[in-house]
Amino acid sequence: MKVLRPEFDLEAFRSSVESADERVLILDYDGTLAPFTPDRDLAAPYKGVKERLAALHRQEHTRLVLVSGRAASDLDRLLNMDPRPEIWGSHGWERLRDGKYEPPTIPDRWEQALLEARDACLKVAGESQCEFKPASVAVHWRGRENNFRKDVEQRLLPAWSGLASRLGLEIHRFDGGIELRCPGRDKGDSVRTILSESPPEAVAAYLGDDRTDEDAFAAIRGRGAAVLVRKELRDTGADLWLTPPDQLLEFMDLWII
Ligand SMILES: [Mg+2]
Repeated sequence: MKVLRPEFDLEAFRSSVESADERVLILDYDGTLAPFTPDRDLAAPYKGVKERLAALHRQEHTRLVLVSGRAASDLDRLLNMDPRPEIWGSHGWERLRDGKYEPPTIPDRWEQALLEARDACLKVAGESQCEFKPASVAVHWRGRENNFRKDVEQRLLPAWSGLASRLGLEIHRFDGGIELRCPGRDKGDSVRTILSESPPEAVAAYLGDDRTDEDAFAAIRGRGAAVLVRKELRDTGADLWLTPPDQLLEFMDLWII
């Protein structure tokens, strides 16, 4: 574990987690709890993570939340937890909580744009590399040869850029692909809502690996720890860096009391 911001006091944070009456632990999934796999439908957590998630979820004074760019239903399937934890999917557009589903409300023009983006994605990348979500379409190139990526950049990106500028959608690059997203929500919004629903004295942390997690890191600043989970360090606004899986498991154990 490495402290990245000198203002962050790891020892003080450790003891506040141990002594807190209320805790909020917010976790990204892909790249954070689960290593990347060429077939993202099979992304399983690191060994030891599932048991810890279950233990955390059983604790009365810990609110366990998963926040992901995946569709909420997709993450629910991969986690396969009973009882289910709270899940924010599609970068905060939808939520599963207490067995209830809060769907996204997306304007018709964006729904139409997503359909067009989907067709373009299928044509260039093929079904196995496209991911269709309630508020976005993503194309993945992890595990594919360089030519595939070049093809996506040259043929799909211009089509998506046209749609994005015509209808006000956003293009985001992530670790392993590109996504065309409805604007207005990101993981930072999810974190702000979660914290606003939690007692102000609750000790909180957010764990993530990707660029899309930087919004969440910024949102938790001043309220808890922003933790980058990644084999290699990169530019980040996080307070703390840990490498999975060993340091991740160690960090999760801190919260299991
Ligand atoms: Mg991730």
